[in-house]
Amino acid sequence: MVFPEYRSRRLRRTAPLRALVRETRLSADQLVYPLFVVPGKKVRQPVVSMPGVFRVSVDNLAAEAEELLALGINSVILFGIPENKDGAGSGAHAKDGIVQRAIKQLKRSAPQLVVITDVCLCEYTDHGHCGFLVDNEVDNDATLEILAETALSHARAGADMVAPSDMMDGRVAEIRAALDENGFEMVPIMSYAVKYASAFYGPFRDAAESTPQFGDRRGYQMDPANVREALREATLDTEEGADILMVKPALAYLDIIARLREEFDLPIAAYQVSGEFAMIKAAAANGWIDGERAMEESLLAIRRAGADIIITYFAKEMAALLKKA
Ligand SMILES: [Zn+2]
Repeated sequence: MVFPEYRSRRLRRTAPLRALVRETRLSADQLVYPLFVVPGKKVRQPVVSMPGVFRVSVDNLAAEAEELLALGINSVILFGIPENKDGAGSGAHAKDGIVQRAIKQLKRSAPQLVVITDVCLCEYTDHGHCGFLVDNEVDNDATLEILAETALSHARAGADMVAPSDMMDGRVAEIRAALDENGFEMVPIMSYAVKYASAFYGPFRDAAESTPQFGDRRGYQMDPANVREALREATLDTEEGADILMVKPALAYLDIIARLREEFDLPIAAYQVSGEFAMIKAAAANGWIDGERAMEESLLAIRRAGADIIITYFAKEMAALLKKA
């Protein structure tokens, strides 16, 4: 059937008709809110390049959890900024480390909240790289042990899920083995399986104080030009026991999300990173775009591409908007 018998516009005529045939929807319970936890008491520090995002101390986490749950957001991912850094990133797996204390606080004040932890060393090393250095290069195999120990310390503190973001080879298997050997066989791994060496991480590194002190991360993160490599990474992580596969960043990599959705049956997560958030916020602050519509459109695009889960700094704003609708 073709025009004039068929007219596409018939189903676009009114808001209820459009809602009836809408193919993709957003829901607050698929959003994950990133939390930056800092030392100190009563700290609630704005991140300048990310309007509306704060770095908070452990004692302020209960209030955060309450706000999130009231908005219908059930999951957070934790990033810690420790008191001290060293060459080996030993603060990452300290029993009373910043993230370990944060997990305990959150599970105490909001047991139903899904607490996911970022597992990496870059916030804890004085050189800012994601692993252990040998001759100024990140040594893959020496890093694995520290990562597994870090994931295990998060599980011991009560984390519901661990999310390795370092891009070392073999880390999912190493972490899975460490968790299983210690009675945490029910703690899932959300792997940052496909993480690109991206310019869009800039504002995050301010917030997490994790900028490399020399060089860059192209020796372990992926080349933005590659898609077949993404499929290889996802295959390896699936074989090693990942429960969820993540693509990071999101908006510049929608094709990668769509390919993973087609080729894998694990849940797919996408991380709408700090730079994606900051660009929309900056343009909106200048009056150049409608910030609210751009937020919703970008999140819908990530869902439409095939992501089940979206980690986003917009989680609170989007959830508030969904509540209003
Ligand atoms: Zn890292």
